[in-house]
Amino acid sequence: MKIIFASHNQKKAVEIRSVLPEGLSLLTLHDLALNEEIPEEEPTIEGNSAFKANWVFKRFGLPCFADDTGLEVHALNGAPGVHSARYAGSDRSDDANINKLLESLVHSSDRSAQFKTVMTYCDVNTQIQFTGIVKGVITNEKVGEFGFGYDPVFIPEDQTLTFGQMSLAQKNLYSHRARAMAQFIDFLKAKIV
Ligand code: IMP
Repeated sequence: MKIIFASHNQKKAVEIRSVLPEGLSLLTLHDLALNEEIPEEEPTIEGNSAFKANWVFKRFGLPCFADDTGLEVHALNGAPGVHSARYAGSDRSDDANINKLLESLVHSSDRSAQFKTVMTYCDVNTQIQFTGIVKGVITNEKVGEFGFGYDPVFIPEDQTLTFGQMSLAQKNLYSHRARAMAQFIDFLKAKIV
């Protein structure tokens, strides 16, 4: 079965391919040579995820899914949340986003946060969402070179390493995306059988 992942983010695609069962072939927007940006202007993570999946389904007519993710920080009333990609400005710089986050928390003893991923799957008959959450804390400085986005400043609950210090296999044990994907894969397996 071929399925489109409605994203240009190759690092997300690597994570997703690493948990996909055999027999499912993932096509990214990069593989489909679609360079256009998909609008991400909805006020919620759920809304953006649904919008992206529907936008790509309408374009290609193939089963398709999208991921929208946000980092929700308790002391910042859930920010950056749906604005995580452009927290420090429109150029989506991971370093600038992290610097702004650490500056915003410099006087805060409450460092609790969570990543939330909402996956939306669309085909001709179906639209369904799966949510994965990992709770954790924000560090005082960047640690680790792996992963992407806010990975170097997030330590999952009960762990000592940031996502930025973990291999992909380790990150998959705890991550919001792997948790949403596990539910999505169960759904796909039931659908295929
Ligand atoms: P989006 O889902 O592409 O809109 O992601 C929003 C923002 O969250 C981007 O800045 C990403 O870099 C960041 N982000 C998404 N997933 C992860 C992750 O697994 N780890 C760290 N940051 C992430």
